[in-house]
Amino acid sequence: MNAFAPSRLRPRLPSPLEPVEDERFTRHGLTLLLKRDDLIHPDLPGNKWRKLALNLRAAAGRTVLTFGGAYSNHLRATAAAGRLLGFGTIGVVRGDELAGRPLNPSLARCAEDGMRLLFADRPTYRAKHEPAVLARLLEQAPDDVYVVPEGGSNALAVEGCAELGRELAGAPEPPDVVAVACGTGGTLAGLAAGFPGRTLGVPVLKGGFLGAEVRALQEAAFGGPRGDWRLDERFHCGGYARTTPELDAFAEDFGARHGLAIERLYVAKMLYGLVSLAGEGAFPPGTRIAAVVTGAPEPRATGPQPDSSR
Ligand SMILES: *Cc1c(COP(=O)(O)O)cnc(C)c1O
Repeated sequence: MNAFAPSRLRPRLPSPLEPVEDERFTRHGLTLLLKRDDLIHPDLPGNKWRKLALNLRAAAGRTVLTFGGAYSNHLRATAAAGRLLGFGTIGVVRGDELAGRPLNPSLARCAEDGMRLLFADRPTYRAKHEPAVLARLLEQAPDDVYVVPEGGSNALAVEGCAELGRELAGAPEPPDVVAVACGTGGTLAGLAAGFPGRTLGVPVLKGGFLGAEVRALQEAAFGGPRGDWRLDERFHCGGYARTTPELDAFAEDFGARHGLAIERLYVAKMLYGLVSLAGEGAFPPGTRIAAVVTGAPEPRATGPQPDSSR
């Protein structure tokens, strides 16, 4: 086995698929199931494990350089993988104003895990995938560095997420519909390819650009469109890391009803969207709906709240 394959980390796969009793679904004859990807690995939870797995195997121990905002789950997962498997990591962080200031808890965790942090000003960060800009960033990295794009979404990540769809399809009583929260859309692009039923994506960013990105990711990974997916753009609650009192109350209540803490940036918006759709009569009675729990809340007591970034 490849010494740097994340299967060495003993991920819990397939992740559990758990029915939950929720009258907002049962009232309409619907069954809600939670696909507990948050339980895959304590340090690389959820879709971050699925997206990194094939990339880390391809990197084969080389230093991994990747990109993210100041609160990026992807940066934290990459740093943790580097510590656990013993390879170097470099994180290019959006915002040069962060340089020289105390690190927030998320970046402090990355640094503790041995990630070297490079702070990029916003114009540089935006242009990071342009060859000249990337070349300048790479001057600070070893020659054979392995580059993973922002949010970890590339063709290998999308292929890794297809396994999520296949796990759902192979369940003893498979769901008819699966819902997932979307940032870059990489998870949705893979999931839809592996799942024969309908896939619903709930973007957490505002802007309406995600459909084109999902198509481009499927083109890169599979050479063309795959699966039966669509987006519902109504549940971003103002944009990335934005929330409303209603969403916060919803997430608190959902967690209390079902005994799990709900991650707020992504998972809460997807569940809120599903409850709304069920109330609108969007699913025929008898439909089995799986909601992918793509991550867990950050174990962080107090401290600054995320303001931007992913
Ligand atoms: C990163 C992340 C997502 C978004 O995944 P994409 O592949 O970028 O769409 C969803 N949920 C959680 C909890 C995440 O951390």
